[in-house]
Amino acid sequence: MKVIMLGAPGAGKGTQAKMIADAYGIPHISTGDIFRANIKNGTELGKKAKTYMDKGELVPDALVVDLIMSRFAEDDCRNGYVLDGFPRTIPQAEALDAALEKNGEHVDVAVDIEVPDENIISRMGGRRACTNCGATYHVKYNPPKVDGICDVCGQKLILRDDDKPETVKNRLNVYHTQTQPLIDYYKKKDILRTVDGTQDMNKVFADIKAILG
Ligand code: AMP
Repeated sequence: MKVIMLGAPGAGKGTQAKMIADAYGIPHISTGDIFRANIKNGTELGKKAKTYMDKGELVPDALVVDLIMSRFAEDDCRNGYVLDGFPRTIPQAEALDAALEKNGEHVDVAVDIEVPDENIISRMGGRRACTNCGATYHVKYNPPKVDGICDVCGQKLILRDDDKPETVKNRLNVYHTQTQPLIDYYKKKDILRTVDGTQDMNKVFADIKAILG
């Protein structure tokens, strides 16, 4: 099963993608997480990506497409994957389709998690991310068991630079201009399914499970 998660930054794509990955036994692939791991490890890719990410801009398509293609070649992708944060532009979606078509494959479902901008802005300020494993929390909606500490690996939680209010506004603009056109792209292919992302995360997941079967 190949699933794409769509939705504004902060709509809950990452949280839901992880739940899907666990429930369906497929890897969760987050381009944002891969970039953050590269930044942490001081790689060339990380250095290049950071200049865009810190401003809330998108990393250039060519860089992202190369990265995701090498990830797809790994063994655990044999039975599919859930993509979180990719594709984010029409050229990325076209590159994905072209690569899949070569092997007679296709994306099964694009799940759009709908959340109005007002909710996004108030949510993002409460978001916390683990500096070590990338797990994300929310101080109100999805708090860690111990304040400021990651449930998964016990490391410190922070407000990511790209979740700071001025960057969030820019990311929302970028989302509306560059990523939202993907909704029509997948609607035309008849694989778009929409869920109400303002609900409790478990209810959102129940709706997604009803779609994926
Ligand atoms: P995310 O964690 O998915 O919100 O991604 C954080 C940041 O990484 C984004 O704001 C972009 O700068 C960059 N990024 C992640 N995925 C992509 C992508 N598919 N295309 C371009 N930039 C991306």
